[in-house]
Amino acid sequence: MKNLNLKIMRPVGFHARVHEIVKKAQKNVKENSGWKINSNCPVCFSKKKKFWLKKINVKIYECLICKTGYSYHVPKNLSEIYDMDSEIDDKIKSHKKRSKYFLKKFGNERIKFIKNFKKRGNLLDFGCGTGEFVNFAQKYFNVNAFDFSNKLSKFVEEKYNIKTYSELNKINKKFDVITLYDVLEHVENPMQLLGKIRYLLKKNGLIFIYSPNKNSLGFDVLGSESNLCTAPFHLTYFNSETIARYMKNKFKIVYLKTFGLDLADIFAYFRDKYQISLNEKNINKFLSYQDIFDNKGYSNHFRIVLKK
Ligand SMILES: [Zn+2]
Repeated sequence: MKNLNLKIMRPVGFHARVHEIVKKAQKNVKENSGWKINSNCPVCFSKKKKFWLKKINVKIYECLICKTGYSYHVPKNLSEIYDMDSEIDDKIKSHKKRSKYFLKKFGNERIKFIKNFKKRGNLLDFGCGTGEFVNFAQKYFNVNAFDFSNKLSKFVEEKYNIKTYSELNKINKKFDVITLYDVLEHVENPMQLLGKIRYLLKKNGLIFIYSPNKNSLGFDVLGSESNLCTAPFHLTYFNSETIARYMKNKFKIVYLKTFGLDLADIFAYFRDKYQISLNEKNINKFLSYQDIFDNKGYSNHFRIVLKK
């Protein structure tokens, strides 16, 4: 990691804004279809658990068997928080501004990473959002996209002329690569979804998953104040130490490593909480120590590559 800049990555008020969005989503669930209880671990399905964190009004438990964190309350109708028109319109509106930043920050890096494993073929971006990545990826792969939100999938299809689905059973082809960037933590049954996605893979096809990692400095220091603790958005908090164990009966694990912005998140949190002005030059230098945590498997995101 080089040239990290706290002010750009985590501007003043960052955590407060995340908190407001989560609060609004929780309120939205309560006022509409309401909550249901999820008493089984979404990874190993055990019922054995203990209290881990509370995010505003939602309790998050830790599975005693696989150490996964999961929201005890799940919206009865998940689409209510994703189809909140105001949120989607905001996403689409800010899409142009984000697009440039996104490609610089993620696009190249993601493609380069995929190409270490697969140079060409059919790629499906599952959970495509406003489509920046899948549009970028079409320079290198034959692409399709998927988003649970009807509005977003229509937007991507029209904007980029990429065939985009919003229902799994409508997809009638097979892929060499399926990407799930920040998707799996949002769904109610992540293991079941992975099983379904497996059918869309060709033999030796690969799934690339990026998701938050519970077993991390960021979560250990910030707990429910972490910007990644966002139930009802993030429902499952995977543990990079145990996840492979539960994937390996269906897939071969080709790659697993953690990456994060733990230090930036922690500095930004305390900067805002105590309104301290940080010596940014010094802080930015220290942000590169994130590498140490990345390499120790203790950062707040993980990447896993699964092979069929
Ligand atoms: Zn479990």
